[in-house]
Amino acid sequence: MYDFVMSTFNRLVDVFDNIIDDWMGITQHRARRVFKDYIPPPHCRWCGQTDSIDACCGGERIPWSRLYSLGLYDEPLSSAILKGKFSKWESGLKYLGRMLGNQVKGSVPRGTVVTPVPMPFIRKFTRGIHHSSVIAHALARRAKLPCRMLLWKRNGQTQAGQSETARHHLQLKSMNVLPWAKIEGKHILLVDDVYTTGRTLRVAVKHLRDARARSIRVAVIAVTKMPRKG
Ligand SMILES: [Zn+2]
Repeated sequence: MYDFVMSTFNRLVDVFDNIIDDWMGITQHRARRVFKDYIPPPHCRWCGQTDSIDACCGGERIPWSRLYSLGLYDEPLSSAILKGKFSKWESGLKYLGRMLGNQVKGSVPRGTVVTPVPMPFIRKFTRGIHHSSVIAHALARRAKLPCRMLLWKRNGQTQAGQSETARHHLQLKSMNVLPWAKIEGKHILLVDDVYTTGRTLRVAVKHLRDARARSIRVAVIAVTKMPRKG
């Protein structure tokens, strides 16, 4: 009964959306319309690169125990992410967050704490949106999990001309756990928009691990396709 009511309701909302959009001449479609027929493809549970669920990278050198994603960084995900980030398309990001939440729901340990990858305050201020936080909150609500800020980040220093080790050290120092964050013994789900080099995610994971998190999983909207080595 509930399902029937909800599906009828959603259909009505769709019809209504279309009427309003046509009437106002809106060409930027709602996330619900853009992603209506989108089914997240299966992906490697560690790197998200291929559609093989187990035998891809074998989890080698991957510091988290599981990765959730909606697919590769490609259409329609890529434009949705860019629009969310730079045109503050908050409703779109929330929609994607809920799609991720559907994947996460029931598949992580009970009481897992959802936390966004942090953004420097200044950038949050100038951009007017903390995209990973918007995604994390929508995901957590859908998966019925608590969402907390656990990490913070200061504005990055210039990294040009630095050696790889020095750069790594700077990155480690530019992020830290919040003094009041309760991490010890907790299962953590770290949320970001895109997984490219994984550098930021690795730094975040290192801090969470040092703070004695019990397990760490990662959820991203999209994974950038990397050229395969060898
Ligand atoms: Zn893999």
